[in-house]
Amino acid sequence: MRRRRLLRLTDIPCSALPVISSAVIRHALVEHVKPRKDALAAATKQLFDICVIGGGATGAGCALDGQLRGLRTVLLDAGDFASAASSASTKLVHGGVRYLEQAVKSLNLEEYRMVKSALRERQYMLANAPHLAHPSHFLVPVYSWSKALYYLAGMKMYDAVAGKSNLFPSSFLSREETLRRMPGLNATGLRGAVAYSDGQFDDARYDLALVETFVDAGGTALNYARVTDFARDANEKLVAANVLDAISGEELAVRARKFVNATGTGADKVRALANPQLPARMRPSKGVHLLFPADAFPGSDALLVPHTEDGRVIFAVPWQERLLVGTTDDEVTPATRMVVQKDEAAYLIRQLNPYLRTPLRLGQTVSGLAGLRPLVAAPGETETSKLIRDHEVELDTTSGLVSILGGKWTTHRLMAQDTIDAVQRELGTPPSASLTRQQPLAGSQGYEVNFASKLEREYALPADVARHLAGKFGTRALKIVELLRENPAWNTRMAAGAPAIQAELVYSIRFEMAETIEDLLARRSGVQMYGWREALAAAPMAGELLAREKGWAPSREPRAVAEYTAKIRGFLNELQLGEG
Ligand SMILES: Cc1cc2nc3c(=O)[nH]c(=O)nc-3n(C[C@H](O)[C@H](O)[C@H](O)COP(=O)(O)OP(=O)(O)OC[C@H]3O[C@@H](n4cnc5c(N)ncnc54)[C@H](O)[C@@H]3O)c2cc1C
Repeated sequence: MRRRRLLRLTDIPCSALPVISSAVIRHALVEHVKPRKDALAAATKQLFDICVIGGGATGAGCALDGQLRGLRTVLLDAGDFASAASSASTKLVHGGVRYLEQAVKSLNLEEYRMVKSALRERQYMLANAPHLAHPSHFLVPVYSWSKALYYLAGMKMYDAVAGKSNLFPSSFLSREETLRRMPGLNATGLRGAVAYSDGQFDDARYDLALVETFVDAGGTALNYARVTDFARDANEKLVAANVLDAISGEELAVRARKFVNATGTGADKVRALANPQLPARMRPSKGVHLLFPADAFPGSDALLVPHTEDGRVIFAVPWQERLLVGTTDDEVTPATRMVVQKDEAAYLIRQLNPYLRTPLRLGQTVSGLAGLRPLVAAPGETETSKLIRDHEVELDTTSGLVSILGGKWTTHRLMAQDTIDAVQRELGTPPSASLTRQQPLAGSQGYEVNFASKLEREYALPADVARHLAGKFGTRALKIVELLRENPAWNTRMAAGAPAIQAELVYSIRFEMAETIEDLLARRSGVQMYGWREALAAAPMAGELLAREKGWAPSREPRAVAEYTAKIRGFLNELQLGEG
């Protein structure tokens, strides 16, 4: 039998690349995102129609919607894009089965409508970036027939609320089928499981894809640009944002006709900058997740634990070669720290373990996440877990600031649409149609389900590396493999076992505005989620690549590595996990 010779990108001219179509390759190889210095210059030179403050899901969604409607838009974030709640989610594209149960039990029409619109949004989110989001099966294990009936009826209602946008019909699985699909489940007394459908996605990369699509559409995006104050005209209306560029330490003024406050849990601070008379609205709650090796609970379906000791649900979902377990829901107090603490980790393990054949131990933890939900306070509600995850567009008539408050990742597009409608009304024009329902995001042009196997075959990449590049960058992975022509040594993994390679870090530095080691390892390549220990191992190389690509002064690289590794060691120490 003739063996097919493996093609390496370094042996072949670009025009001869097989199977992946030349149109896809041409598109992927176009220069996309502008270097940060160009964005900085563009941000100060012109009068924008809209300045969006906050580059999480909500702000990135608003910026894209505004720009696609033909409004000149600038997007500013105080830190990195997706560095707050938008990379700390459970990574579910969902209406929320718990919210539906809450809506039915309390006959809350508002919450019911929120679930329904989130289920509609779910299909747009899945379709617009198929490399970053996919439908999944979720299994709810049942240990009594009455619970089986209760959950099946609930999931059938969830299907009905989703209507035409339902992904797969829910069903009851026998005990045998359940154990075949989830061999790690506790089998004692198990009757079976109720299976239903929802979506899963890569939250940090989805945010970056929104930002990149916005920039491709002509928008200006700047990270590490904190709005510290506003300038006003004679009528008290905001005309410019004073911005501190954390990279250069310089201050700049960004002028716009309208300002959108999409700063999540920071919303009250920006509202107070615009108008100190505004009362606080936000009531953040902290949520944490832990990650374990995937074989700690094998299978490709997600598990929903239907009842926790505090009357919520938690999930254990397969996620990028790991098992993601979460989440908690605790009111933020002055003592809240943004790390996964031992009691929070113990809570998650305690809720999950009764459902597992082999209990998880804290020592198996590979990494974790902590984030704050940007919830809006409701009079009389004592528990943050009962606050409705709906959104609200608020107009401050004194300053003209438009704030978008609350919501969830799954509804970011609808939140953006409502916000830009309000902005257009304020600008004195009727809202034009939002174009984001069917807007392929960066990396999805030409993407197909077998793209990872094509990458693997055509560029002789290991299967896990090809899967990782396709899943994180979509067809823009072609630009990453093209970098291997420049330096074949960039084909090296960032850490043993982790699928990220050096070339993707170079790509993210050049084309995705990565400025720090954490930008690279946490949000762009996902090494930090894959494992804190792998992140420690990868940090020196990430620092070296940043120093070389950005021409850092010699003292900066060791300082950056020391700061990042100290942070990661802090996470490990908090849970008393060793570095080895
Ligand atoms: C634990 C947890 C689990 C969740 N799970 C899910 C889930 O599975 N599915 C789902 O749909 N939703 C989920 N959510 C909710 C979802 O993650 C959030 O609703 C969403 O990410 C909020 O996005 P945002 O852009 O509004 O806020 P953020 O992501 O917090 O972004 C706000 C941004 O504003 C920037 N900023 C603040 N102040 C300034 C300033 N002065 N100048 C410039 N920039 C500024 C910040 O740097 C930040 O990047 C979860 C949330 C948490 C915390």
